[in-house]
Amino acid sequence: MPADSRMTPAPAPTAARPDHGGLSGRIGRIGRFGRYFSRPAPSDRAGTIGLPGQAGLPGRRVQLSFAPADRPGPGRRARTGIALAGLFGLSGLLFSASGAIAQIPVAPVPAPDRTQDAAPDTPWSFALHGGAGVIERASLSPEQDAAYRAALKTALEAGGAVLERGGSALDAVQAAIEIMEDNPLFNAGRGAVFTAEGRNELDAAVMNGADLTAGAVAGLTTTRHPIAAARAVMEQSPHVMLIGPGADAFAASTGLEQVDPAYFFTERRWQGLETALRQQNLPLPARPAGAPAGGMAANDPSAPPLNERKFGTVGAVALDRQGRLAAGTSTGGMTGKRWGRVGDVPVIGAGTYASNRDGCAVSATGDGEYYIRASVARDICGRTATGSTAQTAAEAEVADADQLGGKGGVVVMGRDGLPAYAMSTSGMYRGEIAPGHPARVAIYADETPQ
Ligand code: ASP
Repeated sequence: MPADSRMTPAPAPTAARPDHGGLSGRIGRIGRFGRYFSRPAPSDRAGTIGLPGQAGLPGRRVQLSFAPADRPGPGRRARTGIALAGLFGLSGLLFSASGAIAQIPVAPVPAPDRTQDAAPDTPWSFALHGGAGVIERASLSPEQDAAYRAALKTALEAGGAVLERGGSALDAVQAAIEIMEDNPLFNAGRGAVFTAEGRNELDAAVMNGADLTAGAVAGLTTTRHPIAAARAVMEQSPHVMLIGPGADAFAASTGLEQVDPAYFFTERRWQGLETALRQQNLPLPARPAGAPAGGMAANDPSAPPLNERKFGTVGAVALDRQGRLAAGTSTGGMTGKRWGRVGDVPVIGAGTYASNRDGCAVSATGDGEYYIRASVARDICGRTATGSTAQTAAEAEVADADQLGGKGGVVVMGRDGLPAYAMSTSGMYRGEIAPGHPARVAIYADETPQ
């Protein structure tokens, strides 16, 4: 859904789903692989076990993971992969294992071979996203592609550095998101999209999985780092969510940097607003006072594509050395939003959730209205709590939101430190980092982070 037309409801999903080449099926005992799926499979575990779209990609690995309940605690990382050749043999078994075939319209996202990652005694892990949407190879120039990858790596390395030196999952999430909030490529902080009135109104949330504390802000206009404001709400107020001028005032009272609203202005997003309002026959607001002239305009080769159908929200999930999970998300929302619209990002349980008890941390990006209605982030944790892997839970929940009509994606961290991604879009800026392995990033849905 384009940022500039997301006020229009997405078309209702059709009964016939495209064939993503995935295998779908309820998994029971499947011969010698039964130990992976030996318990009765709840419906959400009838998920897609990937044969990638074009069957026969040589040497490709598909991760099959123990369910979290089977996993050891954060001190160990259990993982396995099986060669695609093995999966071919498995496919017939999957189909014959049960008569019930569940269609899940979310294609499996290729996962890197993580077997060389962390040593067992250094189990931190970090992953993030920079928005999901219709992002195709043809829609990004080489400069844009490179700029996004570099930005993702910078943020990943910042989060990873915090965790490497023993910092908290919360600190890692905040560090990476602040970097992305400062980067105009992303729809968060500086570079956020505009409301129909020509303002940047910023939303963010953070959650500490260790104690289930959470903080959220909506409609900020002067706080440079909304994610820091969300954390201040969590740690320095008795509340969970603050909005509007009061939220900015609270952030200022805790010492967080305040900026002129024009700080968030970028030419690129202003052009996006003009396009969106013209399409909707809405009046163009006056250019904001103090808005800088030029800067990341249409002719800037690394600026976000003007017609890009992406969301651009940023989010991060982390597992630290103490086994604590955390999640955070930050966004400017949707281009041309009106009437104080707030999306899923600051709604705890919709766009952001973390729970050590449930074994997951989630940050979402997508059609906020639908992600709220589907309770995406909370539901993913509900699924992991009852035995789903993070990957299966992510795919099933993104599929659920898709069935309501909402496109988007999620990044999930399991208590085992294995990141999971799922999306119902053609791309999501994303990446991960872990001990012993440098930052790996991916943009397109069929791409393995590398
Ligand atoms: N989920 C965000 C919102 O609805 C948009 C995004 O992900 O970019 O506000």
